Amino acid sequence: MALQNTQFNAIMREYDRKQLHSQHQLEKRTEEIYGKIPRIEEINQRMVSASASKARALLKGESNDIRDLREEISELSLEKRTLLSIHGYPENYLDPQYECPLCKDSGYINGEKCSCFKKAAIALLYDQSNIQEILEKENFQTFSFDYYSDKIKDEVTGKTPLEHAQMAVRKSMEFIDHFQDLDGNLFIYGDTGVGKTFLSHCIAYDLIHKGYSVLYFSAYELFQLLADQTFSRDDENASYTMDSVCEADLLIIDDLGTELTNTFVKTQLFSILNERLIKKRSTIISTNYDIETFSNVYTTRIFSRIMQRFTLLNLIGQDIRVQKTLGGSNK
Ligand SMILES: [Zn+2]
Repeated sequence: MALQNTQFNAIMREYDRKQLHSQHQLEKRTEEIYGKIPRIEEINQRMVSASASKARALLKGESNDIRDLREEISELSLEKRTLLSIHGYPENYLDPQYECPLCKDSGYINGEKCSCFKKAAIALLYDQSNIQEILEKENFQTFSFDYYSDKIKDEVTGKTPLEHAQMAVRKSMEFIDHFQDLDGNLFIYGDTGVGKTFLSHCIAYDLIHKGYSVLYFSAYELFQLLADQTFSRDDENASYTMDSVCEADLLIIDDLGTELTNTFVKTQLFSILNERLIKKRSTIISTNYDIETFSNVYTTRIFSRIMQRFTLLNLIGQDIRVQKTLGGSNK
């Protein structure tokens, strides 16, 4: 996932901070141990000079010396660990303790980004996606079927709003459970206020907590951002945004149809959907349009991708925001 320079620097500064912290903690532990087990200070000093001699011997190619020094170092190390153990400390008490032992909090392993770097990048994006606070309120623990009537029946489907909601939640759960293996996509449609955004938040919450990267945009925001960057020739940021949008494990485009739907938007939308389908990354789209209007507004290419590759979820019922304002559910 490409990052802006400022974001990259922020992550690297955090690694510097972690390394300094672990160095500082190690110094404190060392001081403590030197006070209690003075022999360990001698051992450490001897190890330092033996390591220096070993380096010199390596340079000169003196293999007998190298062998002797290597043996001495391993004996000293064993003695140190034994002493620590006898005094009730963990054997590795005087080893540096890293948050990520894989890269020793450097972010890199042999020039390649460590998995913890990717996590940090996701966390940064998550922070910036601005939905953390909302997700604490809108997730499956707080989802309520009370707002979906079990009395009125939809003329077309013959099902009640409650049945629609139950089906949508069941499909969403399946989507989450098989996120890894099925690279599925969801198309959530229905009138304003029937809980489409809420449902997509529930899914985002669960997947973020399973460690997946989730990017959330309202369609308006997303295409405005892409247009601003493209037309101001801010190529670096435009390609960063596009990369993130195509790379995130889950992309949510909320309220499709609220953007200014022009040729630029249609082209961008198609390339995002197409790229993500090729990369087997999941997308959730929500829209107020019904299927027919949707097919009229967007291109055939977009419409057919969605019909073929997305699971359709239809929420119906009365505007939940209105129901809440009027007080309580309206079953
Ligand atoms: Zn790491």
